[in-house]
Amino acid sequence: MKKYNFNAGPSILPREVIEATAQACLDFNGSGLSLMEISHRAKDFQPVVDETVALFKELLNIPEGYSVIFLGGGASLEFCMIPYNFLEKKAAYLNTGVWATKAEKEAKLFGEVVEVASSKDKNFTYVPKNFDIPADADYLHITTNNTIYGTELREDLDSPIPVIADMSSDIFSRPIDVSKYGMIYGGAQKNLSMAGVTFVIVKDELLGKVSRQIPTMLNYKTHVDKGSMVNTPPVVPIYCALQNLKWIKAQGGVEAMAKRAQERADILYAEIDRNKLFVGTAEKDSRSLMNITFVLKEEYKDLEAEFLAFATSKGMVGVKGHRDVGGFRASCYNAMSVEGVKALVACMQEFEAAH
Ligand SMILES: *Cc1c(COP(=O)(O)O)cnc(C)c1O
Repeated sequence: MKKYNFNAGPSILPREVIEATAQACLDFNGSGLSLMEISHRAKDFQPVVDETVALFKELLNIPEGYSVIFLGGGASLEFCMIPYNFLEKKAAYLNTGVWATKAEKEAKLFGEVVEVASSKDKNFTYVPKNFDIPADADYLHITTNNTIYGTELREDLDSPIPVIADMSSDIFSRPIDVSKYGMIYGGAQKNLSMAGVTFVIVKDELLGKVSRQIPTMLNYKTHVDKGSMVNTPPVVPIYCALQNLKWIKAQGGVEAMAKRAQERADILYAEIDRNKLFVGTAEKDSRSLMNITFVLKEEYKDLEAEFLAFATSKGMVGVKGHRDVGGFRASCYNAMSVEGVKALVACMQEFEAAH
C-alpha cells in the first residue's frame, strides 16, 4: 500500500533527493568512496557547500550583504546564539508557540526582553497582528510558521529594527523578501533536508557589534569568515539539502512551491470546514499552509483513536496531532503531493459516511 508521509519533522523528502543522497553515501561522484568517508576539505566536497550556498541565494533571491552558513545544533542552538551575538541591551520577541517561547527564554539570559505580543491566551491558535515594535530594541524575533499549532505569518514585516526569523518549517515554501530580515534560520529536517544541519542567512553588517566576548564556535562571524568550514560540517545533510534545492529549482522554484502549498491547503481546509466530524484549530486568517491542524468536534471526540487507526490503515503516516493541540496534524511540506492530500480527504469522507 502507498504510504503518505504527513510527519511534522523529520519529514517527507522527494524520493529523488533520498535516492541521490543514498547513492552518494555508497559512491560519491564516482570516487569509489562514500560521502561519509571523505574529508570535508576534499576538493570534491567544497563544491557541494559552494553550490548549496549559491542555490540558497538564487532560489530565495538573497541580496548582496548576506551570508549563508551551515551549522550543527539544530534551530534550538540558535535560540541562544541569537542573543549571544545580537542582544546588547534589549530584544523584542513575538510569542506564537512553544518554539517562540523557548527562543525568548534563552534571550532572557542575556538582557532585557520585551514580549511584543503573545497568542498564549488562546493556546496559540492565531498569530497576533498590529503590535508595536520597540525602536530601541536590538532586534525582533519571530517564528514564521508554528509547526505545532498550525499557524503561519506569511507577511514580511516592516520593522524599524532587524527582524530575526525562525523559518524552520516554512523555508523554501514561498518567496520571501530577505532584505526585510536581519537573519533567517532553521533546522533542516522540516522542509529542507534530513536532520543534522541548521541553516543561517545573516546580514553581514549586524555581525561583530555586541560588546560581550562570544565563544568561538557560538560566534556567527567565525562561521561566516570560514565559509561553514571552521570544523567538520554535517556533510551528508548538506549534500541532501543540495539535492533538495536542485529539486525545488527543477520544479519551478519557491513560486511553484507556494502555488502547490496553496493548492494542497485549499483542498484540505475545504474538507475540514465541510466535514461534519472535524473542525480546524487555527483561526482562519492565521492558518498555516505547512502544518494543517484539526480536531474532532466536541460531540465526536470519542472517535479520535478510531479515526487515527482508520487513517493509518489507509496509508496515512504521522497524522496524530501534537500533544499540546490534540487531534490531528497533516504536515504538508514541499514534497507532499496533491494526491497525498486528496487521499487524506478521501479518508475523512469515508469516515464521515460511516458515522
Ligand atoms: C522543529 C522546530 C524547531 C526545533 O528544531 P531543532 O532543529 O530540533 O532544534 C524550532 N523551531 C521551529 C519552528 C520548529 O518547527
